[in-house]
Amino acid sequence: MLADAPTSGVEELVRIDARVVNKVDAIRQVGQLLAAAGCVSPDYEDSMVAREEIANTFLGAGVAIPHGLGEDKGKVRRDGIAILQLRDGVEWNPGQRAHIVVGIAANSDNHIAILRRLTRLIQDEARLEDLRTTGNPDDFRRALWADEAAATTAAQPARDYSQTVSWTLDYPTGLHARPASAWVEAARSSGVRLRVRHGGESADPSSLIALLQMGLRCGDPVTFSAEGAGARPALEAFVARVRSLSGREKADAERAAQKASAPVQGWKPQGEARMIAGVAASPGLAIGTVHVLAAHDLSVPDQPCDLVSGGTALNTALTRTRAQMKALIDDTTRRLGAGDAAIFRAQAELLDDTDLITLTCQIMVEGHGVAWAWHEAVSRIAGQLSALGNPVLAARAADLHDVGRRVLAELDPSLAAGTMADLPEAPCILVAADLSPSETATLDTARVAGIATALGGPTSHSAILARTLGLPSVVAGGADLLGVASGTLAIVDGDGGRVWVDPGEADLASARDWIDRLAAERVSQEAERGQPAITLDGTSIEVAANVNRPDQVAFALAQGGEGVGLMRTEFLFLESGDTPSEDEQAAIYLAMAEALDARSLIVRALDIGGDKQVPHLDLPVEENPFLGVRGARLLLRRPDLLDPQLRALYRAAKQGGALSIMFPMITSLEELVELRARCEAIRAELDAPHVPIGIMIEVPAAAVQAHVLAGHADFFSIGTNDLTQYVLAMDRQNPELAAQAQSLHPAVLRMIAMTIEGAKAHGRWVGVCGGIAGDPFGAALLAGLGVSELSMTPRDIPAVKARIRQSRIEDLQALARQALAARDVAAVRALDTGGIGQGAGAPGKAA
Ligand code: PEP
Ligand code: MG
Repeated sequence: MLADAPTSGVEELVRIDARVVNKVDAIRQVGQLLAAAGCVSPDYEDSMVAREEIANTFLGAGVAIPHGLGEDKGKVRRDGIAILQLRDGVEWNPGQRAHIVVGIAANSDNHIAILRRLTRLIQDEARLEDLRTTGNPDDFRRALWADEAAATTAAQPARDYSQTVSWTLDYPTGLHARPASAWVEAARSSGVRLRVRHGGESADPSSLIALLQMGLRCGDPVTFSAEGAGARPALEAFVARVRSLSGREKADAERAAQKASAPVQGWKPQGEARMIAGVAASPGLAIGTVHVLAAHDLSVPDQPCDLVSGGTALNTALTRTRAQMKALIDDTTRRLGAGDAAIFRAQAELLDDTDLITLTCQIMVEGHGVAWAWHEAVSRIAGQLSALGNPVLAARAADLHDVGRRVLAELDPSLAAGTMADLPEAPCILVAADLSPSETATLDTARVAGIATALGGPTSHSAILARTLGLPSVVAGGADLLGVASGTLAIVDGDGGRVWVDPGEADLASARDWIDRLAAERVSQEAERGQPAITLDGTSIEVAANVNRPDQVAFALAQGGEGVGLMRTEFLFLESGDTPSEDEQAAIYLAMAEALDARSLIVRALDIGGDKQVPHLDLPVEENPFLGVRGARLLLRRPDLLDPQLRALYRAAKQGGALSIMFPMITSLEELVELRARCEAIRAELDAPHVPIGIMIEVPAAAVQAHVLAGHADFFSIGTNDLTQYVLAMDRQNPELAAQAQSLHPAVLRMIAMTIEGAKAHGRWVGVCGGIAGDPFGAALLAGLGVSELSMTPRDIPAVKARIRQSRIEDLQALARQALAARDVAAVRALDTGGIGQGAGAPGKAA
């Protein structure tokens, strides 16, 4: 076995201070070592030379890894590696000298561990230098064969390291992705080598896939072990983190159990329809004929390339996908909260998984193209996860496929196509083993009434998207679901988590009735969405949309948006992977203004930093990015970002429209004065019209000093997402704190009241563009506090408008007074006596 000490003597496989005349000679010599050790047939060296002619095997840092052609695997008798140490080196390619030549013979996965070590080794300059000069073959054995990196793919059970702690896993649903990601994080920051072992299986806890592949269940005894300097305290800190997750895991399981045993909410059939029980994932009831989605086998062309360009392409694709995932996490956190976004964090972890990347490299080394190798590695590992028979891990396999598809699309854009071409015209119940988030996101909602999947979980990205699309959905229905024939009539109950197959006429009629009643509530809200949000006693509240791109404006207006209250321009930078030029920006701002047709447009200047990192700007890494150079602080330090944006905005303003500029993360008057001066200089230079200049109130200091800032700002828009995190000192992205980080906290409400008071002193208007504005109760409360504009996700608009239109401002003011006096969030929530927008399926609840 390659991952273990070689069965032949090390001397036989390592040639110290070898002498070669050129690269081909080096390849032949290493091939002969392999042949002499009985690993390959004598003509394998020809295959190695031929392989080198079509693909470069120089890994970097003076290491080359020649190996035979894929079609010559039959010449490999047993897996093995052999090494030439070339103290003077040999030119491998122009400008590249190889000092260590590692010949590989393999027709199984066993040399993954060797490759992993090689990839680590080429980053360890000091160790490489030792190996280049050592006279002792054992040094190579220790570096490449020694059992130092745990890999679940290794056939032999690994031994524990010197320091050990035993524990029995007490997470009721076993080690699923969320706690496993926390283990990975703790392991990576521990600074020592750690191992987790259950019976004969072990894993490196810094690899998410390796951990998940162990399939640990509640009650499994595990041994954690560590080695290296400071192993004991590091191990204890790691185990403390592992144990600290138990409370939350138990509480979550208890909540889930209570929910499962609760009487089924909503619609109940009377007849004898067959029921398939699953888990509710997106609310609502849908009727339709079943369309079973055939498993889609992606055909990835195999275009061999040399290792260096393949590795570079993979690296670029992974970097781009990481940036995409980051944007997705930010967006989901903003729209649905940190808890829902946690699942994408776990998905993003998969992109850094050494097992996955090493397996991909190994497959490339075997002579395959990078896209093919990546797809194959993802399929193999996802297959292993699915085979463990644990539905939680099976869901992670779907996540892996999904992340895998994103990377593939980066490697080869022609592989980005969707898979839903053959959906029937009439809205159907889409049944599938699982749906990837990308598949769900690209669903044609005119042709799908509801979704039922055999696998998946309610917190999966797909379920989140189904909710966003308003499609009733049930997940984890099991294999029975896939046995339902296409064309069968079915009802999906996304509240009760059930699928009813072949319902009778009476049940169909009552289900239709139920759907009609739900729709009526929504319709009554939507019918009035075009009407202004004026309270019964005549106070008008402007309701605007948070929209980042011109193509989203039409939908926002159709939902009843009266303008755009927040355009987050940093997404232009995050989504494009490049810095948009002044001309590109001007065109976008103009297109926004034109799409709005004289309605108001508030464009927020770049709010980069904190959770919104833009990789291509290469900004310094900060220890506390939320408390660092973010928003206005960055703009003032980077005129190369600020000035082109302001120029683009004033150029757009010259063409007409009702454009305002807003600055994020203002902390002090000085910043505001300086930014205004910059605006004025650019405006004068371009001879552009004056536009209102407002600021976000998201830092407590700004709320407290609102009376000072209001003297210099034309308006305020309160960013309650950030204001909440800064007032409560709770990271808005931390899933552990998601339940407590509530914008309805009385302390946050008091900050809002203070802001309004400060603005009033100077006759300025105050809006809110954080998530609370899209919650009907939150919106009513804000109106009572004196906010005159609310800006939100377009889908939230009808319910918010309906709530305002059915209220009296006097009542809302009384409500606000009570909320300000409340002792905690629960007391504030208790003031919500309902109203339109509080019913089942109502939008805005997740804002
Ligand atoms: C906010 O902080 O509430 C806000 C609207 O800004 P963002 O969510 O973009 O930080
Ligand atoms: Mg903010």
